[in-house]
Amino acid sequence: MKIKVKREENEISQKRSIFDRERQKNKNALNTVQPNHNIKPVVSDKTVQAIYAKYTKGSTFPYAKPPHNKPRISKNTSKKQEKKKKHGLVAVAEPEEFKKAITYLKQSPTATKVINYLENLKVITKVQTSDSSRFDLSKTEQVQGENLIRWYSHTGLVVSDAKGFKDRSKKRVDRTLKTLGYQSPALGLIHEMTHAAIEHGYLETYGLTLEENVDKDKHDSAEHKFIVALEWQVIDELKKADKNNKETKREYYNSASSHILMKDGPTSADSPIKHILDLHSRDEHLRLIKVFEERKEAHKKLYESNKN
Ligand SMILES: [Zn+2]
Repeated sequence: MKIKVKREENEISQKRSIFDRERQKNKNALNTVQPNHNIKPVVSDKTVQAIYAKYTKGSTFPYAKPPHNKPRISKNTSKKQEKKKKHGLVAVAEPEEFKKAITYLKQSPTATKVINYLENLKVITKVQTSDSSRFDLSKTEQVQGENLIRWYSHTGLVVSDAKGFKDRSKKRVDRTLKTLGYQSPALGLIHEMTHAAIEHGYLETYGLTLEENVDKDKHDSAEHKFIVALEWQVIDELKKADKNNKETKREYYNSASSHILMKDGPTSADSPIKHILDLHSRDEHLRLIKVFEERKEAHKKLYESNKN
C-alpha cells in the first residue's frame, strides 16, 4: 500500500519540474491535509504535531527539513521502466545518472555481481535522490526494511589519512587530517547496494560471513568492514579497466566520512566543488532556497491555524 502510494505520487510528479511540484505542494498543504486527516476545528498541539508528522513524512516538527519523498533532478525519469519492472533495481530519480553509474560500476566484476544480485531479487529496490531541495545536505544511504536507497548523483566522499582519526569518545577528528583523495558517487551507490544485497541474503547465498568483534573505532560495524573490503576490490577492478581511474581506497570505514559534491557527476572521483553555486546556477540555487522558505512558511501557517 505504502509503495503503491509512493509510486503514484512519482508518476504524477514526473510531468512537473521540481519547482512546480514544490510550489503546488505548498499551495495544497492547507487544503489537502485537513480533510485527509480529520482535523477538527479545535485541536491540541499533539494532534497538530501528528498532522505535521504525516505531512512531513516523519521529519522533525515543526520546521522540518523537506521530506525525502519526491526527489527529481533530471526530467528524464523513465516512467515506462518503473511501471514495467516487477523486481530488481529501479531508479525513481536521476535515471540517466543512475545508468551512467551502473555502466561505470559494471566494469568491475565484483560490483556486477552485487548489481545482478539485486536485479534478480523478487523485490524492487528503488534508488531515489535523497533530498533534491537541499543539495548541500543530500545524504546517501540505504533504508533498511524499505527496499530503498537514497543516492544523489553528485555526492562523493573525501578519503582521509586514517591516522587522523581518534576514537569516537574523543570526537574522532584530528585537525591535521590529510585528504588522500575522493570516492565517486557511483562508489557510494555500490556501497549502499551492498547493504541492500546483504539485507536480502547476499552473504548466505555466497557462503560469506561477517567478521566478529571488529574494531568499532575503525569500522563502525562488521558489515562496514565487509563492504570496505568489497570497495577495495571494486576499485582495483575499475583501475584495471581504466588506468586513469581516480577512485581512492579508504583504509577503513571511518577514514572517509565527509561528503563532498562532485562537479562532474556520478563517476567522478576527482572534481570536488567548494561551493553549491559551482553545481547550480545562482538563480537556480536562489529558487531552491525560496522553495524551502515557502515550505517553512506553509508549515507555520498550518500550525497557527490549528493551534487554538
Ligand atoms: Zn554504509
